[in-house]
Amino acid sequence: MICIRSQREIDTMFEAGQIVAKTHELLKTAIKPGITTKELDQIAELFIREQGAIPAFKGYGGFPASICTSTNHEVVHGIPGSNKLLDGDIISIDIGVQYKGYFGDAAKTHGVGQISRNARLLIDVTRESFYEGLKRAKEGFRLSDISHAIQSYAEKYGFSIVRNYVGHGIGTKMHEEPQIPNFGRPGKGPRLKAGMVLAIEPMINAGVHEVEVMPDNWTVSTLDRQNSAHYEHTVVITGSEPVLLTQLKSSVKR
Ligand code: MG
Repeated sequence: MICIRSQREIDTMFEAGQIVAKTHELLKTAIKPGITTKELDQIAELFIREQGAIPAFKGYGGFPASICTSTNHEVVHGIPGSNKLLDGDIISIDIGVQYKGYFGDAAKTHGVGQISRNARLLIDVTRESFYEGLKRAKEGFRLSDISHAIQSYAEKYGFSIVRNYVGHGIGTKMHEEPQIPNFGRPGKGPRLKAGMVLAIEPMINAGVHEVEVMPDNWTVSTLDRQNSAHYEHTVVITGSEPVLLTQLKSSVKR
């Protein structure tokens, strides 16, 4: 069952989403060559708790940190550690929080220092593919219209879509129905309705789409060890334009 959220619930999810957005802003300024992913995790956890929220990934299925940090060929679920970021790396940061019983979830990929043109293109196309999907995140469309728009956009650039991990409904749990693949034929799945809240999150690889889980049982890597990028927002379906709960308020249309 896909939940339809009341305005009161969406208002609380907006508060959760804003904490996620502010944490992303904070980390964006901290990402530079020499910082470790563990330090980024500590900055995020402290800030999230200062806001009265809980880092939702910590302990989720036994995950040992507050945020996911996935560098270069790592796709998602990278564990923060003592490795230092290097000039030319790319890093995907995924942040989830729980606030007043509701969840917010968003991810972004950043360049560290000076990155290659191909890495820049991968990051940009991944973000743009999200916004292509978002054009179909409206009442009247079907779920897979979002999926198809993301896939069509990213594949035009020769990139590939991760199959094994998908977006999801979100609300009083981090992962709710429906699953939202970033690939597939249009016109399938449930019809979108106002009040649905979806975490739409393209994961795009520079090379092959296949991935594998590393021996730490968390980190997902591309099979060919080429780069991967991730972009995610928590999105409310409305009667008109979708609302991004995890985008900072100053730039949110409400
Ligand atoms: Mg997510």
